[in-house]
Amino acid sequence: MLFDTHVHLNAEQFEEDLEEVIARAQESGVSSMVCVGFDRPTIQKAMELAESYDFIYACVGWHPVDAIDMTEEDLVWIEELASHPKVVAIGEMGLDYHWDKSPKDIQKEVFRKQIQLAKKVKLPIVIHNREATADIVEILQEEGAAEVGGIMHCFSGSPEVALECLKMNFYISLGGPVTFKNAKKPKEVAAVVPLEKLLIETDCPYLAPHPYRGKRNEPGYVKLVAEQIAEIKGISFEEVAEVTTANAKKVFDIN
Ligand SMILES: [Zn+2]
Ligand SMILES: [Zn+2]
Repeated sequence: MLFDTHVHLNAEQFEEDLEEVIARAQESGVSSMVCVGFDRPTIQKAMELAESYDFIYACVGWHPVDAIDMTEEDLVWIEELASHPKVVAIGEMGLDYHWDKSPKDIQKEVFRKQIQLAKKVKLPIVIHNREATADIVEILQEEGAAEVGGIMHCFSGSPEVALECLKMNFYISLGGPVTFKNAKKPKEVAAVVPLEKLLIETDCPYLAPHPYRGKRNEPGYVKLVAEQIAEIKGISFEEVAEVTTANAKKVFDIN
C-alpha cells in the first residue's frame, strides 16, 4: 500500500482519462492520495474529487506563483473549506523565485497569511519551495509554523536544510527527482533523513520519475519513488511503503 501525498489530478492534463489514471494507480498499490488545489479552479476540482472518491483527500491553499491574484475572499473561502472532513492540510504555499509573476514581498505576505490561517484551523501545511530556501526557513521560524508542522513537498534542498526542517516539525517528501541519475541532493536526503520522517509523492502531472522523465506523471508512478528510496536505504520496498504510508496518515490525521 502506497500513499501519494501530492497529486494534481485536478489539472487539465487529466481531464481526458482521469478514471483510467485512478484505476492504474490502484493497480500499482496506491491506496490513498492527497489532491492539492492551489488557485480557484483547482481548489474547486480538488474538493469535487475528495467528495467523489473515499481514498482521495484534499489540500487547499494558494500557490506562490499566483500570490498576486489571491484576495481576502479567497482566504475566507480556504478557511471555510478547512472544516470539511476531507480537507487534511493547507497549501500548497511557500515561495517561488523561479517565476516572476508575483513580486517577492507579495509572495511572502500571502505565505505568512496562510501559515497564520493553518494555525487558526489547526491543520498542517504543505510547502512549495523553488530557489527560496533561506527565506522559507526564516518565515517558518518567525511564524512559529512548528506548531502545526507539515510537509516540505518535492524537497530539493540539501541534507542540512532537511534536518533543519525536521526540527520544525516537518516531514520531507521526495518525488520523481530522487530517481534521476544526476540528482545528487535528493539521493543524499533520502539516505540521511530517517524513514520515519519521509513521505513519497508524484506531484503529477509534473516531474515524472525515471524512466518516464519528461512525460506526463501519474500517481501509479509513486511506486518508482518508493523503490528508489528502498535501494538507497538498503531496505525492502515493503518497509518503505508501510512506513511512509503510516507517516502520511499521521501528518494528515487519517485513521
Ligand atoms: Zn509545488
Ligand atoms: Zn504541487
